[in-house]
Amino acid sequence: MRMLAEKTKRTIYTEAMEIFEHAADLIGLDPRVRLELEEPDYEHIFYVTVKLRERLVPLPKEEQKRYADLPESVVTEGLEPLADGRFIIRGKALLRSNVTVRDGVIRLAGNGLYRLEPAQVRRFKAYRVQHNQARGPYKGGVRYHKEVSLDLFKSLAAEMTWKTAIADIPFGGAKGGIKIDPRHYSKEELERITLRYMYRLKDLVGPHRDIPAPDVGTNPEVMGWMFRQYSDGERERHNLRGVVTGKDVRIGGSEGRVKATGQGLAYCVEDWYADRKQTVAGQTFILQGYGNVGSNAAEILCSMGAKLVAVNDADGTIYNPQGIDPVRLTAYVYGNPKNINKSIAGYPEAEAISKKAFWETQADFAVPAALGGEINADIAEHLKVKLVAEGANGPTTPDADEVLQARKIELIPDIIANSGGVTVSYYEWLQNQRMEHWTEVEVNDRLQRAIKTNWRIIRDIAKNQPRHNADYDSRRYCVGREVDTRTAAMVLALKRIEAHYQLEGFSQ
Ligand code: GLU
Repeated sequence: MRMLAEKTKRTIYTEAMEIFEHAADLIGLDPRVRLELEEPDYEHIFYVTVKLRERLVPLPKEEQKRYADLPESVVTEGLEPLADGRFIIRGKALLRSNVTVRDGVIRLAGNGLYRLEPAQVRRFKAYRVQHNQARGPYKGGVRYHKEVSLDLFKSLAAEMTWKTAIADIPFGGAKGGIKIDPRHYSKEELERITLRYMYRLKDLVGPHRDIPAPDVGTNPEVMGWMFRQYSDGERERHNLRGVVTGKDVRIGGSEGRVKATGQGLAYCVEDWYADRKQTVAGQTFILQGYGNVGSNAAEILCSMGAKLVAVNDADGTIYNPQGIDPVRLTAYVYGNPKNINKSIAGYPEAEAISKKAFWETQADFAVPAALGGEINADIAEHLKVKLVAEGANGPTTPDADEVLQARKIELIPDIIANSGGVTVSYYEWLQNQRMEHWTEVEVNDRLQRAIKTNWRIIRDIAKNQPRHNADYDSRRYCVGREVDTRTAAMVLALKRIEAHYQLEGFSQ
C-alpha cells in the first residue's frame, strides 16, 4: 500500500532525490543531516508585474480577406522581431514612418498583415529556492524558461548543493527564475522584468547570503541588470559586486566564465580518455543543445581534435559524418540576426535527420547539454556511444541510468561534468572580494586542476580504489565496494557536507 502511494507521487523532485537517498543509505548518513538535506531551507514563490511594449501581432487567416486592399506600409526601423512571429514597436517607430492603419491593422511591406496590440501589463510567476547553506552562501543560477515549477527549482537547487560540494567551493545550493519564454519579449522588456525580479529578491540575496548566476535563458547582460538593481543607491557599490556571478568581464566578471561549463566538461572528457591511455583527438560525438554549454563544449572538444557528427536542439537536428565545424555552426546560430530562434535547424553544411535518428547515431560519446529528463530508458536502450558526459542538469532519468549501467555505457555525471561554471563563478566571486582580475590562463589552470582532481576522487570511489598522493586523498571517501559513478559523485558530495555538520554541529 505504502509503496503504491509513493509510486504515484513520483515527481521531478522525488526522482532527482532517489540518488540522494541511495547514497545516504550507502554511507549511513547521519539521520539529522539527512532531514536537513531532504527538503530545501526556503522556497520562495512570488510574482512580478511589468508593463510591456506595443506589439504587432500576425492577423489570423480568417480576418485577412477584409484587408485585402490595405496598402503596404514601409517601416524601416524601430521594429524588433520576436520568435513568436510578433514585432515589438520601439519608441515612436510607427508615428515616424508613413504608415496606413485601418481598424488597428497594418500591412508590413514584405511581411503581411498585423494587428496593433496596445501595451499590456503582465504578471509572471517567479521563484528562488534556497536549498542548503552548510558549506557557505546559497549559490545557483537564474532560469528564464516557459516550463519551470517549484518542483523543478527544488531539484535544481538541491543539485547545486551537491555540485558546490563536489567542486569543493565554499558555497551551498540554490536556484530560481521566472516562468517565461524570453524569446517572446524584447530586450527592454526583459530588463524591466529582471529589475522587478531583483527588486523582490533584494532581501534574500547578497554576496554572503545567496549569489545568483546565469542559467538557461539568462546571460551576463541579465546579471548586469541584477547587479544594478541590487546595488542601486549604495555608496560602496564595489563591495557588492559579488552578489551575482557570470557578469560581463568589464564589470567584474571573470575571464573564462562564459566558456567555463563547456571547458570543465571538456577537461572531464579529456581525463576519461587519459585514464584509458587514449586522447580526445579522433573521437566522435553527438551533442544535444547548442546554448552556452553545448556550443562552448563543442568548440573546445573540437579544438582538442574530437569530431562533432550530430547536433539536436529544440527546433531541429543536423547530421554530418564528415564532421560539423562548431565555429561555423556558432556563427550560423548566433552571428545571424535572421536566425531569430537561435537554432541549428537549417544549417546548410549538414543534413536534417529526426530526433530519433540523432540518439541512435553511432559515435564515441554523447553530450546532453539541453534540459533535464531528455535521456529516458527507451533512448538509453538505443544509444550507440560508449560514454555520456552530462552538460545539462539532470538530463538522464533514473530508469535510463539503470539501462546505461546494464549496457555498460559509462557516465560522467552532471554534478561533476558541468561544475566548471559554478567553479569559475567562485573564482569570479573571489576576484570581486579581493579586487583582482585574473587572466584566462590563470582561471583555466585552476579550473583544470580542480575539476580533474575531484573527478579522479569520484573515479576512485567508483572503483573502490582508495589513494593518497601529492594531489589528493580519496581514502576517506571510498565506501568499501565498487559503485556506479553517479552514486560515487553523490557520496563525495554528502561526505563533504556531512563533515560540516559533524565538525561545526547544528545551530539550535
Ligand atoms: N547555472 C549554472 C549551473 O547550473 C551555474 C551556477 C553558478 O555559477 O552559480 O551550474
